[in-house]
Amino acid sequence: MSETLEEFYNHILDIESPWSVTAINRDSKTREVTAIVDYKENEPLLCPDCGKPGKLYDHRMRTWRHLDSCNHRTMIQANVPRLTCEEHGVKQVSVLWAEKNSRFTLEFESTVILWLKEDPISTVAENFGLTWDEVDGIMTRAVRRGLSRRLKSEPKNIGIDETSFQKRHEYVTVILDKDNDVIIDILDDRRAETLKNWFKTQDRSDFSKVMSISMDMWDPFINAVTANFENADKLISFDRFHVAQHFNRALDKIRADEHRQYSLTMKESPLCKSRFHWLRNSSRIDNRDSRRKDFLSLTRMNLKTARAWRIKEAASLLWNYSYMGVAEKNWKQLLYWISHSRLKPMIAVGNTVRRYLWGILNAIELRVNNCMLEAKNNRIQRIKKIACGFRNRERFKNAILFHLGGLDLMPLPTR
Ligand SMILES: [Zn+2]
Repeated sequence: MSETLEEFYNHILDIESPWSVTAINRDSKTREVTAIVDYKENEPLLCPDCGKPGKLYDHRMRTWRHLDSCNHRTMIQANVPRLTCEEHGVKQVSVLWAEKNSRFTLEFESTVILWLKEDPISTVAENFGLTWDEVDGIMTRAVRRGLSRRLKSEPKNIGIDETSFQKRHEYVTVILDKDNDVIIDILDDRRAETLKNWFKTQDRSDFSKVMSISMDMWDPFINAVTANFENADKLISFDRFHVAQHFNRALDKIRADEHRQYSLTMKESPLCKSRFHWLRNSSRIDNRDSRRKDFLSLTRMNLKTARAWRIKEAASLLWNYSYMGVAEKNWKQLLYWISHSRLKPMIAVGNTVRRYLWGILNAIELRVNNCMLEAKNNRIQRIKKIACGFRNRERFKNAILFHLGGLDLMPLPTR
């Protein structure tokens, strides 16, 4: 016995009792197929909030976009009954194929979410024939859904970092659960007050297991943590990644100045096209590489840049001590060397490090690992690049949580 068209659509659309497909309309001009779905007569109308049966109140015509079938845009249309529940008043019965208030079916929305994991909003919009705002709406709902489902966590090692968005001088604060590798939250700016209030609004017991809070040597973050944790001077760690950034920036400034000086007096500066090599992390490089050999001969020249580079390299070796006494002694030795280097930008970094040495030693003692923070930062920058700038902060925050929040984003039917 052959299947009717309606039965066929019942199967491919996964429509189950008390609903069934009762008609199929095809519009050849718009290449659109609409499956008309009806609620079976005499089936009890159940309140979506309490599950108790209620009396029919009226009907509402609704349409949902589904995944295309055979290059036809496919829609589900239903005259959805509303009922009166004694306890909850007028309610619409749940549909099995869509979340409450969504104009897309679960299948459609889930597919868009999977695409969004890989592609920018504009590409997804183009491929599904949706507007930018519609795709953004699916993304925003996915994040909201994920946040509401997130289980209580008790992070042991927290990372706090700032990241710029859109214009260079605008920042948000990113809070990371380093053990689970997820972003817990994103705050609107990088002020002490904002972070302080964030900690205040969280459940205190969430932080009962915190062993370290790593960050840059940045007073607003330090003050916010100090205001919220009695043992802040033991928790706060200035990790390797951030400290290295300070040394790298000073080195880069010295190199740029020296290169400019050479360029004024000589035809070709020895520092020409060398920036990348100075800033690289030496521990990851094979010294047998021929270009590396050329660079190493540059480091033996009498250059300010080479002196600054040796300081940066020395600092990068000071992170693996097991004895705190030895670690402290060696950092202080480096600081003495820096203070006599006559390299102004390096001396400034030296002063910063001297002031915050206590937190650097905490990082060494607690073995605070920085790779997670570095990796997350790189991924945030990539998200930013893919999106070609965000129109507002909320959207930027949403995108970060969507990709890096470790959230369960998929829609489920409301029964
Ligand atoms: Zn009810």
